[in-house]
Amino acid sequence: MHCTTEKPPPPIDPTKNAATQMADEALLQARMLAIRQRLFVLSGKGGVGKSTVAVNLAIALARHGRRVGLLDVDVHGPSIPTLLRVPDGRIRVQGNTMLPVEGGPGLKLMSIGYLTTSGSDAIVWRGPRKHSVIRQFLSDVRWGELDYLVVDCPPGTGDEPLAVVQLAGEPAAAVVVTTPQEVAVADVRRCLTFCHQVDLPIAGLVENMSGFVCPHCGHAVDLFGAGGGESLAREAGVPLLGRIPFDPAVVAGGDAGSPFAMLDADTPTTRAFHGIVDRLLGIEVS
Ligand code: ADP
Repeated sequence: MHCTTEKPPPPIDPTKNAATQMADEALLQARMLAIRQRLFVLSGKGGVGKSTVAVNLAIALARHGRRVGLLDVDVHGPSIPTLLRVPDGRIRVQGNTMLPVEGGPGLKLMSIGYLTTSGSDAIVWRGPRKHSVIRQFLSDVRWGELDYLVVDCPPGTGDEPLAVVQLAGEPAAAVVVTTPQEVAVADVRRCLTFCHQVDLPIAGLVENMSGFVCPHCGHAVDLFGAGGGESLAREAGVPLLGRIPFDPAVVAGGDAGSPFAMLDADTPTTRAFHGIVDRLLGIEVS
């Protein structure tokens, strides 16, 4: 895999004068300096379980005693407020600063979904506006000291992943989520190319919905084909962090706003997930 374009410079807001832009930049740098690692959760297409992986990853890291923020930069279809329900989850504003919503095991959460009044609001943004919203999510939110900022990016390789990767800085790594089918794997190749283009190290691939363990007989069935993520990881020379089976409990937990990583259940899904988290904890991202 190789780069086909130069890394583009972050857009500059033409409505701001040079002094304001320098002050904005200094604030962003100061906030990002307090964050030890960023994990960008990416996928080639929607519906593969990227937000599910992001929210459970953030919860699991927090349950390992890490200080964790979870930022949802899907400004059109935010999922985090649905997947992790926080009663009265609203962003509070103090002066020019937004206070993240606190939820789960001590997580600091930020999503456009906490700013809208209804989950069904359609949010229409143009590119430059999206960029400035994402900048605000990083610089105007009082994240404080964090061990990890987990970022749930919208699917694909558009404006939002590009903006947040460029603005949030380093150390950082990508966790790329796919399902095993060839069509999902083809989309994920673009994601890997994106990471190379923006100089984002790849922590590894997660193959989600990888087989179905029958709750009655315990027999494993490959619902969506098998091993696509595994062979892609080999081909691309990136680690396979793990394979999460298709599990109705994951859907139920997501629908109830109570992700499975909040529970202490011992199932093939939780075991697979803990393996992924242990692998990530063992990786020093740069
Ligand atoms: P994406 O962020 O990629 O669009 P989501 O995380 O929103 O995907 O997941 C899409 C749907 O798939 C949700 O209903 C979620 O509960 C379900 N899902 C995700 N992972 C699994 C899994 N391992 N087993 C069963 N359902 C899953």
